Amino acid sequence: MKKFYVLLIFIILLASCSTIETDNHSIVHQYEPIVIASVPTETPIPTPIPPAPTLPPEIPQSKSMVALTFDDGPSAHTEKILDILERYDSKATFFVVGNRLGLYQETILRAAKLGNEIANHSQTHARFTSLSDNDVINEIQSASSAIKSITGISPHIYRPPFGATDERIVNISTELGYGIVKWNLDPLDWRDRDADIIYHRIMSQVEDGSVIVLHDIHLTTAQAMERVIPSIIEKGFQLVTVSELLDYRYGGLDAGSIFGSYCAWRIWE
Ligand SMILES: [Zn+2]
Repeated sequence: MKKFYVLLIFIILLASCSTIETDNHSIVHQYEPIVIASVPTETPIPTPIPPAPTLPPEIPQSKSMVALTFDDGPSAHTEKILDILERYDSKATFFVVGNRLGLYQETILRAAKLGNEIANHSQTHARFTSLSDNDVINEIQSASSAIKSITGISPHIYRPPFGATDERIVNISTELGYGIVKWNLDPLDWRDRDADIIYHRIMSQVEDGSVIVLHDIHLTTAQAMERVIPSIIEKGFQLVTVSELLDYRYGGLDAGSIFGSYCAWRIWE
């Protein structure tokens, strides 16, 4: 019988808050608890969450694993990233914006067929904490419908735009059956459009369990992957999807649970 384990980790980092604005991003320097949880039970629990992807036997659990995650796309640069991933037989997760999918259906279909994970980053990249309950629900469900119409698979995780969540958003996520995935390594590729800087920040910090937030709407990010992906592999890591990493390392992510923080980039300041 399948067993589930509970691992509940709260890390509350003491820090003050400030806010930085850019053309398309606002990130609050506010440390949040890192929560990783799964359901403790010996018997199956009825749940609206689609099952986690089957874990491929070729992923050795004993080998260190890293998840590259790409937000805000797809874009004209996504194909270049797919080329590099395919070349190195590696996988990543694309947190896509639903209203961009119509322009890049072939790209997303190719990404999915290569074994990459297509996850939800909202329909319009709106800040959930500023929306009504119904609008938040629409943002999540519309994006998932758009993804499913192309890949045939409805995601069970999403990343909130700007990393913005609160108790109300968590409650909605629980009801809809979604885990919330943030990150634990942020090279600030959206702010510093320089492939060398992105490369060095990632390679100086990457470790087993790293979930790296990137943005496939920037050419410099795609260019950085030319060195980042082979270098990560050379260091002995395997590149897996974020759901695979969460499943292997933490027994999955329950609906309404949050993985990661949106403040890990403060180290670059
Ligand atoms: Zn975003």
